[in-house]
Formats: sequence, C-alpha cells, structure tokens
Amino acid sequence: MANVEDFPPLSSSNVSFGQQSTLESYKMVLKENLNQTKASGSKQRKDTSETKPKPLKEETIEWPDLDGFCSIPSPTLRKKDDDKIQRTLFPQPSNKDRLSIGVKKFEPFKYMDQRQDELYRHLERIYSENDRYKEFMENFVPACRSYYWNEIPGIVFFEIIAKSFGSASFDKSDIFYRLAAHFPDVDKQQEIMSYIQDHDDIRVDPKNAIASSCKRCLQVFMNEDMKEHGCRKKGGKKLI
Ligand SMILES: [Zn+2]
Repeated sequence: MANVEDFPPLSSSNVSFGQQSTLESYKMVLKENLNQTKASGSKQRKDTSETKPKPLKEETIEWPDLDGFCSIPSPTLRKKDDDKIQRTLFPQPSNKDRLSIGVKKFEPFKYMDQRQDELYRHLERIYSENDRYKEFMENFVPACRSYYWNEIPGIVFFEIIAKSFGSASFDKSDIFYRLAAHFPDVDKQQEIMSYIQDHDDIRVDPKNAIASSCKRCLQVFMNEDMKEHGCRKKGGKKLI
C-alpha cells in the first residue's frame, strides 16, 4: 500500500500527463462538436455537417472553392476560378476525391467553365421566374451534384428533378437538353437522353432539339458545340 501511495513522482506524472492530455483533447473535440451541433441545428451530424450540405441556404457557403469544378482537373481552369468564382452544378464534395468516381468519358468543349456557369445561372433564373428558387437550391442543385458523384442513382435523380418542377409550367425540354449537354459524364448524358425519350412532355423532334448525341461516341452536345467536337472534325459521316 505504501508503494502505491508513494510511487515515484516522475513516472506517475508522465502517465497522468499523457492521460490528462488525451482526456483534454477528447473533451475539446466533444465540446467543439457540441457547439457545432448547437449552432447548426439539431439534425446535423457532428463531423459530417460540411460534407452533406442539404439545406443550401447561402450561396456563398455552397461554392467556397470550385475544386472539382470540371471533369478535367486542369490547372488553367483552376487559375481562372480564382479570378472569378463560377458556378457549377457538379462541385466536388469535400469528402470525395476524383479517384473515387473513376474516369468519366467526356470531351470538354470550348469555354467549358464559363458554359457551366451560364447553365447554372440560366436554370437558376428559370426556377426563380417560376417562384421555385428554393426548390432549385435545395433539390435541383444537390441532386445534380449527387448524381454526378455517384451518390444517387439515376432513378432517384430524375425523381428529385421532377419534384423540383412541381406544378410550375417549365419548359422542360430546354432544361433537360441543356442539362444533358453539359453533364460531364457521357454515361449519365445517355441516361438523361433516355429519360427525355421516354417523356412526351420533354422530348422534341430531333430536328428542333437544341442538343443531340454524337453517333460515334454518344456524347451529347448543344448544337453550337457539335461542330467543334473531335469526332465531327475528323470528318466522316454527318452526325445528328
Ligand atoms: Zn463523338
């Protein structure tokens, strides 16, 4: 008993110091999490609150740095982003890296970053004009992102998009063909095109469509981009 009480000061302080600091840091983490949870509402999970930005309330928070902005990790694009923040429907979630989604088939077109930004603003305006800005921010945008990053399957994606329209009288063709042409993943472009084909209220005659698939590689382009497309440039037969 005497030994236990009079244990050597050095070793005892070492042990207790170690334990103490571990405990302290653990407490701090707990405290931080608690504060975060309090501050950001009861439903947020403590350490993933940033990775699942479901309620997109503030635009400035949503697009802090557009790291995963384009399917091609180009340093020049990234430099441009610094000059002017551009919007995209497919920003890289903070908990994902590009490797996790594999290589996506997609040939970037001219001014791709700018075009993605235009698409975003175009859709945002359409939703706003139909009094559905909230649906755009809370449903449409996150759905595009999740679909691109393989977090939801197509069937869920289309369901969310359809719901986001509600009863508003959107020009759905315009939205879907644009979306297909700008979606930086050929497989998903084709999925969107199939969805269009299956819906009479979206599908238009190919001659009048604003976008179409390249018959060779199946990538979807807006009409104005098709002539710049590699397959087309190399000659060969006329594409749709
Ligand atoms: Zn092609």
